[in-house]
Amino acid sequence: MSSSALKTFPGGLHPPDSKQATAGKPIELSPLPVELILPLSQHIGAPAEACVEVGEFVLKGQMIGRAKGFVSVPIHASTSGEVIAVEPRIHPSGRLLPSIVIKPDGEESWCELFPADPEKLTAAELIERILQAGIVGMGGATFPTHVKLSPPDDKPIDTLILNGVECEPFLTADHRLMLEAPKQILAGINILRKILQVEKTWIGIEANKPDAIALLQELCAGTGIEVVPLAVKYPQGAEKQLILALTGREVPSGSLPMEVGVVVQNVATAAAIATAVIEGKPLVDRVGTISGPLIKKPKNLRFHCGTPLQHLVDLCGGIEHPPAKILAGGPMMGQTQLTLEAPATRGTSGLLLFAKEDLPLRPQTPCIRCGRCVQVCPAGLLPTTIAAYVRLDLIEAAEQTSAMDCIECGCCSYSCPAAIPLVQSLRQAKGMILEKRRGA
Ligand code: SF4
Ligand code: SF4
Repeated sequence: MSSSALKTFPGGLHPPDSKQATAGKPIELSPLPVELILPLSQHIGAPAEACVEVGEFVLKGQMIGRAKGFVSVPIHASTSGEVIAVEPRIHPSGRLLPSIVIKPDGEESWCELFPADPEKLTAAELIERILQAGIVGMGGATFPTHVKLSPPDDKPIDTLILNGVECEPFLTADHRLMLEAPKQILAGINILRKILQVEKTWIGIEANKPDAIALLQELCAGTGIEVVPLAVKYPQGAEKQLILALTGREVPSGSLPMEVGVVVQNVATAAAIATAVIEGKPLVDRVGTISGPLIKKPKNLRFHCGTPLQHLVDLCGGIEHPPAKILAGGPMMGQTQLTLEAPATRGTSGLLLFAKEDLPLRPQTPCIRCGRCVQVCPAGLLPTTIAAYVRLDLIEAAEQTSAMDCIECGCCSYSCPAAIPLVQSLRQAKGMILEKRRGA
């Protein structure tokens, strides 16, 4: 199929994909670090509440933090060992947040597990297992999966979309997972289909992963699941853009995918769901891509949640110079890290290290009204106008111009010839609007 015939969305851009360093590298298992730092917040929503004390011995998979509320998930020990601290530690967000620190005993002894046959469980029982296993969106969003799977009665879901796009440059963890664990992904999809009772299931994959597309198409033949190659364009994997590309349905401004009858789950989340339901194992590890120009031996690693970033860097040959930029996630939407002491968590899809010379340091100049930021914005916004409203403190105007629909993809900043940090202004606008709404 020619690239012009592939499904996609309006706007977006084509950054260099930089995936060649790891796309062909099989997933390696990370050995245990000296200590694991497990933040009680590894998800969107209320942080979990610690339910272990210093000095306690814990088993792998044991719950160490209880979910606190509906939009929350429990946290589990990612190996067996001793709890050596329950205290604030540096979090990937850059803040000091409550964490449980485990000194591994090296045995990897699991707690008692309760495997199950998904066919014999009801939808409610499957959702409960997913909640108790602490499953969250593993594409990086970390939204609790059980919440997405529990739409209100007046929002019928007819379509399930599996996100295997992985459009961020450098990242290849989902690509490798699709190649190495396709049956597990398929088992997870079947659990999701049983829960949601959808008419249609799609797996969307960017066309730059032809091996994964061919493999999943073969496995899905006769199952009613359609594997669709998508145009290679950033941010093809953003939820609303993926829904539009595959179904032609547009999620209205300010709404969630359930508004148009769709649930989207990442392929790694589907694999974690299968592990949780069938093997009874909670989410205690994940695959991430460790790459970037400063990394000597880029790899795809399956690491224990709570592994310090420094340990992952050491496993990839270490670094010769201090990094000028550390990113958890991809280069477009990843989170800047202040230190390699922070842990990799359930949402860490990648770790990228850059030297100073790798960073484009263009001086900011005045806007030349070229309109590129408008052309590339996949949400159809006017980034330069909203940035001006922020400068002038016109928050209502920013709200009326749909600033809250910004998905923070960074396309506007990336394409701006004047190097104006538009995405920062959009983030600021969203923060100010939320603050205004809270105060209203
Ligand atoms: S305004 Fe938001 S959604 Fe639009 S390009 Fe910029 S960051 Fe992306
Ligand atoms: S891309 Fe930059 S220079 Fe061009 S209109 Fe937008 S803000 Fe102005």
